[in-house]
Amino acid sequence: MIIVLRPEATEKQIRHIVDKVKKLGLKPMVSKGIERTIIGVIGKEDILRVQPLEVFPGVEKVMPVLAPYKLVSKDFKPEKTIVDAGGVKIGGKKVVVIAGPCAVENHQTFLKIAKIVKKAGASLLRGGAFKPRTSPYSFQGLGEKGLKILREVSKEVALPTVTELMDIRDIDVVERYTDMIQIGARNMQNFNLLKEVGLLKKPVMLKRGLMSTIEEWLMSAEYILSNGNFNVVLCERGIRTFEKTTRFTFDVSAIPVVKNLTHLPVIADPSHATGKWGLVAPVGAAAIAAGADGLIVEVHSTPEEALSDGVQSLMPANFNSLMANVTSVARAVGRSI
Ligand code: PEP
Ligand code: MN
Repeated sequence: MIIVLRPEATEKQIRHIVDKVKKLGLKPMVSKGIERTIIGVIGKEDILRVQPLEVFPGVEKVMPVLAPYKLVSKDFKPEKTIVDAGGVKIGGKKVVVIAGPCAVENHQTFLKIAKIVKKAGASLLRGGAFKPRTSPYSFQGLGEKGLKILREVSKEVALPTVTELMDIRDIDVVERYTDMIQIGARNMQNFNLLKEVGLLKKPVMLKRGLMSTIEEWLMSAEYILSNGNFNVVLCERGIRTFEKTTRFTFDVSAIPVVKNLTHLPVIADPSHATGKWGLVAPVGAAAIAAGADGLIVEVHSTPEEALSDGVQSLMPANFNSLMANVTSVARAVGRSI
């Protein structure tokens, strides 16, 4: 249920309604828009049939939210959410490119790659320290040591960072070292992890699960928002289909679909979606053309030596041409970079 307030509703009236909602055993979530304030009501709303809120001063209307996700939906917050990740705004007019290697491997290589992506125009740096690998024998990431390198290099090149959190036990250390926390595809439905990051203020990039529907993905985002953290960026990274040519199948229509359903920013990961470096630029361009607010792309100075995902990592020259391509497409769809 959402309570839409009149534009002239006073703070006192808002507080009065919030108190009433709490007294009824429901959870009020206030969203202050430019035009008006909306109060989302979470919980067993049936009680509102007996206690109509329409009669309260300042209320314009009370509407049900038909979608199972409430706070994530545009009904609750018609204005777009702009997420601030270490000073970089995601979800505004500017398209944001996040780039870096799959994993932080050592200080020297990571610094080299960071300098390359910064020079090419990336505005955030990626690099995993905790890696979700299919095989337990594959490189698992450097853990806290990797996070320290991430932070040092972030300062050296002046780029904020995003890195993956896989386990609740690492939440404090990951939060300390990064500007945005990535919840990977494999953890999209790790509900306890979602609840924990929901208690933070730090932005969260929530990737779509490999086999998740758009509704399941948005319900996962709802877990984070319902615990108070509205700084969520969604990331389409391809889903499993019968097609074997690419690592996953990039769901380009998910971008406009999700943008119509939610106020949250949506970015795309053409690297994991395709699994092939030669497809990263065209699929990335398609995502921007479809309305994505940004890209997250894997780049490596020597992909043949990468400890993970070398096959899909762009070499510096290819990353430069991706940036040029994305800049043209962004301009064509009324965005800047
Ligand atoms: C990654 O970004 O390195 C990663 C493992 O992504 P995903 O969770 O989308 O597979
Ligand atoms: Mn990777």
